[in-house]
Amino acid sequence: EVEPGRRGGSSLFGKYEIGRVLGCGAFAKVYHARNLHTGQSVALKVIQKKRLASSSALLSNVKREISILRLLDHPHIVRLHEVLATRTKIYFVMELVKGGELFARVAKGRLSEDVSRGLFRQLISAVGYCHSRGIFHRDLKPENLLVDDSGNLKVTDFGLSALGAQVRSDGLLHTLCGTPAYVAPEILAKRGYDGAKVDLWSCGVILFVLNAGYLPFNDPNLMALYRKIYNGEFRCPKWMSPELKRLINRLLDTNPDTRITVHEIYRDPWFNKGHTKRPEDA
Ligand code: ADP
Ligand code: MG
Repeated sequence: EVEPGRRGGSSLFGKYEIGRVLGCGAFAKVYHARNLHTGQSVALKVIQKKRLASSSALLSNVKREISILRLLDHPHIVRLHEVLATRTKIYFVMELVKGGELFARVAKGRLSEDVSRGLFRQLISAVGYCHSRGIFHRDLKPENLLVDDSGNLKVTDFGLSALGAQVRSDGLLHTLCGTPAYVAPEILAKRGYDGAKVDLWSCGVILFVLNAGYLPFNDPNLMALYRKIYNGEFRCPKWMSPELKRLINRLLDTNPDTRITVHEIYRDPWFNKGHTKRPEDA
């Protein structure tokens, strides 16, 4: 078992030299790291095993899941290079994305409809690619969307949130997870839910945030927030075009059965404005 060692001023983990912290999430800390054999810079995500819901009985599921994630190869999904483990921690060696979180860009102010359309098309292309392979994100939010040097979107954490999840024989996921503001109403209802539908709800919240500069559902009181989500209580700001409002309303449909699908999004007028082709790898 390899535990981080020291070399000069920096820590070592096997062949990786660990540098500064890139970010923190609910489960993990992510470090800048360098592969000493190849010189390649990577992002190293470290998860404490005790923070994973998975018991040892689920370990084979986790391993199967990781082997699927390693096969994901899409221009808008952060590449997973390698997974390493010690007794207490799991290390995900990932493609390094240099531009930071999309969240930071939105925090500076809302984006134009053209800029957000470009990003949203990349997001849907990544989401559609994974869904067609039976992989769901379930924690889509601007903090998990990174932007590279050229302003392209890269989704991180894809599939990882399912590691602690239970999938029943009906194919519905049953763990309450995800971030409240982006969580779909059917999750709050604690019924089983469809991973594809909840991802599209979150895409609706993201599309709203990009164009509004604030959340569609927000309340300092958690129960009040849940009630707003459950009832689909939100209002699009007046500066949004009617086409954009329509798409947001189709995504934030509280009924998962009538909510817009990826295939329908590809035919949406706002989504296609100014574009003649589908996004890459649709
Ligand atoms: P968690 O599962 O705990 O939410 P994330 O995988 O989302 O952890 O990572 C936490 C933060 O680390 C992200 O919000 C982002 O700021 C940063 N980060 C994650 N992956 C990368 C990456 N591949 N390149 C650069 N920064 C990253
Ligand atoms: Mg995250």
